[in-house]
Amino acid sequence: MDLARVETYRGAHDREDLRLRPGERLLAGGTWLFSEPQPEVTGLVDLTTMRWEPWEALPGGGLRLAATCTVEQVRSAPWPSSALAEQCADALLMPFTVQSAATVGGNLCLGLPAGAMIALTAALAGEVVLLTPDGGQRHAAVTDFVQGAGAVDLRPGEVLRCVELPGPALRQANAVRRAALTTYGRSAALVIGRRSAESVVLTVTASVPRPVVLAVAATATGTAVRRAVADACGSVGWFADLHGATDWRAAQTVRLAAEVHAELTEGAA
Ligand SMILES: Cc1cc2nc3c(=O)[nH]c(=O)nc-3n(C[C@H](O)[C@H](O)[C@H](O)COP(=O)(O)OP(=O)(O)OC[C@H]3O[C@@H](n4cnc5c(N)ncnc54)[C@H](O)[C@@H]3O)c2cc1C
Repeated sequence: MDLARVETYRGAHDREDLRLRPGERLLAGGTWLFSEPQPEVTGLVDLTTMRWEPWEALPGGGLRLAATCTVEQVRSAPWPSSALAEQCADALLMPFTVQSAATVGGNLCLGLPAGAMIALTAALAGEVVLLTPDGGQRHAAVTDFVQGAGAVDLRPGEVLRCVELPGPALRQANAVRRAALTTYGRSAALVIGRRSAESVVLTVTASVPRPVVLAVAATATGTAVRRAVADACGSVGWFADLHGATDWRAAQTVRLAAEVHAELTEGAA
């Protein structure tokens, strides 16, 4: 897609460069920006020239993913176990050419229900770090940052700098289940479970407009898990688009959640 009205392009090298002028838009991988008409955009400000490290280790065993970290680079980050990151990267069904350009920040800022980098970082108790126009920073849980389908808490002049993932969540056992209408279709329901000491923390995306996170007791029965997930997701409302109707997505989600819970509690007393 040509952005027919774009007249200027500049690479950003420091925070001052991130101040947008009228008509300018931040450019990350461009996989979405260049895929649709953007009649109001007359200038692009490239974030990739900020040269942020794609990922950095944090004290306490945590991990920081830069906003400009590509989906491909997410795969090679130093995860204690890379299976979850791999499965989330795979959930973004895009050719490798797109995976090598699409960024974590672009995925989060679009706020799409099937945003698999949203799913990954929400499931790992991630916190976004936002650069504010006054030169400061603001932190928010990923689950608060993404507010609905295509709606995020990105205020005027703010830039998403990175997502920070705490060490303990990275080291907990996890399990993933995904449903889609076709083998290579976009996710219609994605459930990620993380085993904590007393419970299983379930994160639901794709079938709901924003991530839903709930802790279910490790001892809960399959019926109780299904009911808890149906109630939590029902309270934000099920999401529907051409990738699946609400009733089908609801049925898939509760089934997948029970499977994830069972996998993570198998053999538990
Ligand atoms: C073939 C294909 C398949 C796709 N599949 C999926 C899918 O399964 N699920 C899904 O969610 N999406 C999907 N997408 C949509 C999109 O490509 C991805 O969400 C991707 O991660 C967007 O990242 P990007 O770096 O390309 O963002 P860009 O297109 O560069 O930017 C997207 C938007 O976010 C803003 N932005 C980017 N970075 C920042 C930042 N750091 N701070 C503030 N604002 C910022 C930009 O200004 C722009 O408005 C797909 C796209 C294609 C082409």
